[in-house]
Amino acid sequence: MIIIMKTNAGSDQIAAVEDKLTSMDMHANVSRGIERTVIGAIGDERLINVELIEALSGVEKVVRVMKPYKIVSRESHEQDSVIEVKGIPIGGKTIQVISGPCSVETLEQMTATAEAVAAAGCRLMRGGAFKPRTSPYAFQGVGTEGLEIFKQAADKYNLPVVTELMDVRMLDTFLDSGVDIIQIGTRNMQNFDLLKEVGRIHTPVILKRGLAATISEWLMAAEYIAAGGNHNIIFCERGVRSFEDAYRNMLDVTAVPVLKRETHLPVIIDPSHAGGKAWMVPALSRAAIAAGADGLLVESHIRPAEAWSDADQALNPQELKNLMNELKGIAKVLGRSL
Ligand code: PEP
Ligand code: MN
Repeated sequence: MIIIMKTNAGSDQIAAVEDKLTSMDMHANVSRGIERTVIGAIGDERLINVELIEALSGVEKVVRVMKPYKIVSRESHEQDSVIEVKGIPIGGKTIQVISGPCSVETLEQMTATAEAVAAAGCRLMRGGAFKPRTSPYAFQGVGTEGLEIFKQAADKYNLPVVTELMDVRMLDTFLDSGVDIIQIGTRNMQNFDLLKEVGRIHTPVILKRGLAATISEWLMAAEYIAAGGNHNIIFCERGVRSFEDAYRNMLDVTAVPVLKRETHLPVIIDPSHAGGKAWMVPALSRAAIAAGADGLLVESHIRPAEAWSDADQALNPQELKNLMNELKGIAKVLGRSL
C-alpha cells in the first residue's frame, strides 16, 4: 500500500501516519521528495481498513498494491485448479458440458432428460428444484421433492447433479439429498451469509456472476466462500445487464480471459441465460469454448415447448447432441478434450 501525502503535509502528520501503520502491524517506509512525501506500507494490506488511513490529516490518497482477494487469486496458486466431482474433472484439459432443464418437473421428465444428456456425452446434469423467479406468481420450483426426483433420475445415468441453493435453511437438506454441486445463482452472488455457509462445507460451488457485478466483486464473492475453507469454486458467467433488448443478457466473453488470468479456479459459461433463446446457444457456446472457458452450463429439456420455465432457451436432445459434436472440433484445436 502506498500513502501519498498532501504537498503541504507537515512532519507531525507524517509521523501520525507512521504511528497508525505501526499500530496496524505494518512497516512504514518514508520517502521524502521535494514536493511531497510518499509512505510505502509493508505488510498484509488486505487486513487493513484503508479508510482509517485516508481519514488522517495530511493524507492525499492511498493506493493499494495487493489484490483484495487472496485464496482465489492466481498470485497465490499459479497452476490451474481442477475440481473433481465423483471422479469427473472440472478445469484442466477437459471441457465439461453440464446440461439439463431449467426446472425439475417430474420423474418422467427428469429421467428422459437425463438419458438425453448422457447420450449427448455430457457427464454432469443441472436442474433447479428451487427457482428464483422474477414474479412471485410464477412457478417457484417443485421444492424438496424435486431434489429426490433429480437424484433418482441422474443416478440412473451416473450423472452428478448441480442445483441452486437460495435459502441457507435448505443447506442440510441439499447435503442429505446428495447434491454434488451447489449453484449460487446470479441474484445471490452477494448474499454474503449464504456464501459464508457454503464456505463451511466442501461441496463444490458454481458461483454465477451477479446481474451487474464487476469481475472484482465476483472474485471477492468467491473469496468469501474460499475464506471459510471451501476452495472448490467454479465461476459461471451467464451474461450481464445491458442496454440491449434483443437478447436476455449480454454474454461477457471478455470475462473468460480476464478471470483465467486473475484466478486459478475453473470458469464456465451459461449461454442459455445469456442469449435467452435456444437458437443463440450454439454460437455463444462456440465463442465461450474458443475463449478458453472450462465448460458450459446449458439448459436442455426432453420437450422444450412444454418446459415449466425457460422453455424458449432449452435445447432439445438432438440440438444438444449437435452442439456437443460441434464443440469437440473446437476443443481439439485447443488441445483439450470434451
Ligand atoms: C438457473 O441457472 O436456473 C438460473 C436461474 O440462472 P441465473 O441465476 O443465472 O439467472
Ligand atoms: Mn433457467
